[in-house]
Amino acid sequence: MTKSKLPGEATPNSESPLKDRHGVVVVGAGPSGLAAAYRLQQAGVDVIVVDPGEDVGGKMKSREVNGFHIDLGPTVVPPTHTNMIPIIKELGMLDTPGGAEVAGSIFGIAQGGGKFVNLDTANIALAMAKTKLVGLRGKLALARIGFDVFRARKFVRHPNLGNAAALDTSSAEEYARHLDPKLYDNLIDVLLHSQVGAPGSTLSKVDLLRLIFVEIGRPGPTRAFTNGVQSYARKIAENFPVSLKTTVEELVEHKNGVTVTVNVDGERRVIEADSAIVTADAHSSAKFLTQLSESGRAFLNSITYTSMTNVHVGLSKPTKESAYMALIPASVEPRVLAVVFERNRSQKCVPPGKEMISIYSSDAIAEEYWDADDEVLTKTLIEATENIVPGFSENIEFTFVNRWPRVVSASAPGRYKELEKFQRGISHWKRIHIASDYLGNTNMDSATSLGEIAAKDVLSSNLLSK
Ligand SMILES: Cc1cc2nc3c(=O)[nH]c(=O)nc-3n(C[C@H](O)[C@H](O)[C@H](O)COP(=O)(O)OP(=O)(O)OC[C@H]3O[C@@H](n4cnc5c(N)ncnc54)[C@H](O)[C@@H]3O)c2cc1C
Repeated sequence: MTKSKLPGEATPNSESPLKDRHGVVVVGAGPSGLAAAYRLQQAGVDVIVVDPGEDVGGKMKSREVNGFHIDLGPTVVPPTHTNMIPIIKELGMLDTPGGAEVAGSIFGIAQGGGKFVNLDTANIALAMAKTKLVGLRGKLALARIGFDVFRARKFVRHPNLGNAAALDTSSAEEYARHLDPKLYDNLIDVLLHSQVGAPGSTLSKVDLLRLIFVEIGRPGPTRAFTNGVQSYARKIAENFPVSLKTTVEELVEHKNGVTVTVNVDGERRVIEADSAIVTADAHSSAKFLTQLSESGRAFLNSITYTSMTNVHVGLSKPTKESAYMALIPASVEPRVLAVVFERNRSQKCVPPGKEMISIYSSDAIAEEYWDADDEVLTKTLIEATENIVPGFSENIEFTFVNRWPRVVSASAPGRYKELEKFQRGISHWKRIHIASDYLGNTNMDSATSLGEIAAKDVLSSNLLSK
């Protein structure tokens, strides 16, 4: 039994899609795995996706509460998502009613007490050049970073940052603070917080160079899925079978293929395939990739992820802010990373005349309150957000809590050098392809790109049976 259906939700897979043999097994139904399966299916490959969840999407999770569409994880598709946007278009969801519709593009940088400095991300390069958040020294430092990004473009173009190992010499904070401390505090750190989900001290310089390479110079509209980002996952998964409630317990490569041991809703099954693509996180992969060397497993287990707790707050009336997302410098409020004004992000995701504020906690708060009651966590995050948006909590209709154990892999300096070593250690694997989030600090777009690259590698390996 592999089919799982939640009340009122479309089921992406047909009855019992798991067979004894497949062309390719894709491990994980997040944006990476779904993109990989989509491209393989288009090439005529017998592909199946397996995932322990009750629905497809990985971190692309949405819920509907009282007519409010809540995205619990990823939420926006900026113009820089150049790998994901073509797929959205192919699925007929780009700029169509109920699909990925043009959304707000203003970032506000919170200054405390209800004040914000707004930046239009429709043209982030121009917004950064014009902003008063940094002085002349900061602008010169930005130009220097731009030059470094230009020199590094060959290495940071690829979402697999093992390619950029040689540049992994300092943390993002050490690198940028050295150029101009004010630029770092007022702009770089808050951008890293919002775009990568972690402070610059836990990220490599490589993450910053890649972020800027990807983000700058691609003006255009930001989009959001009116019916929630999970609608994209469900739509793409209509194209191939997905076996839900299915956990990979062992994946081993041999001369003629791969053997995959899965636990399907409590029942163990062994299936064969020509190849496999792995998109599961580092810690799960360390468990089921039993052919890893001791040092390979140690590397995967050494990867740490940031965590996050979110509270989504439905309000009976809109706030006066014009930004769709407020980035919160730690000096303004250390407990909150970002606040999304959902009505400004996508008017149609909240009922007319209403508002929803989504509050994203810092890693430290997530750790401290992980086991706390929802009420305690909600009270703490609402109190913190009152310092940013005073008075918003007078109009609360409902609150909805979500906890994320793994947001992004923390990449202290040297991490990508270790990654390159790890990849050299598994370079003799011919049939197991890795497209997981620890290859770089992913967003939905780089995850999509990793999945597509893995699909291409499988197709060019000539190891698929006819
Ligand atoms: C709060 C939050 C906000 C975000 N905002 C944005 C945003 O606005 N824009 C954006 O582009 N990105 C955003 N992201 C990042 C984005 O969600 C991730 O980069 C992306 O989901 C990574 O995709 P993935 O497919 O690599 O991994 P995932 O989405 O994590 O999927 C991996 C899948 O592997 C499965 N798996 C694990 N172990 C096994 C096993 N043993 N067997 C089978 N399957 C297994 C998991 O169940 C999971 O479904 C956000 C993330 C969070 C948490």
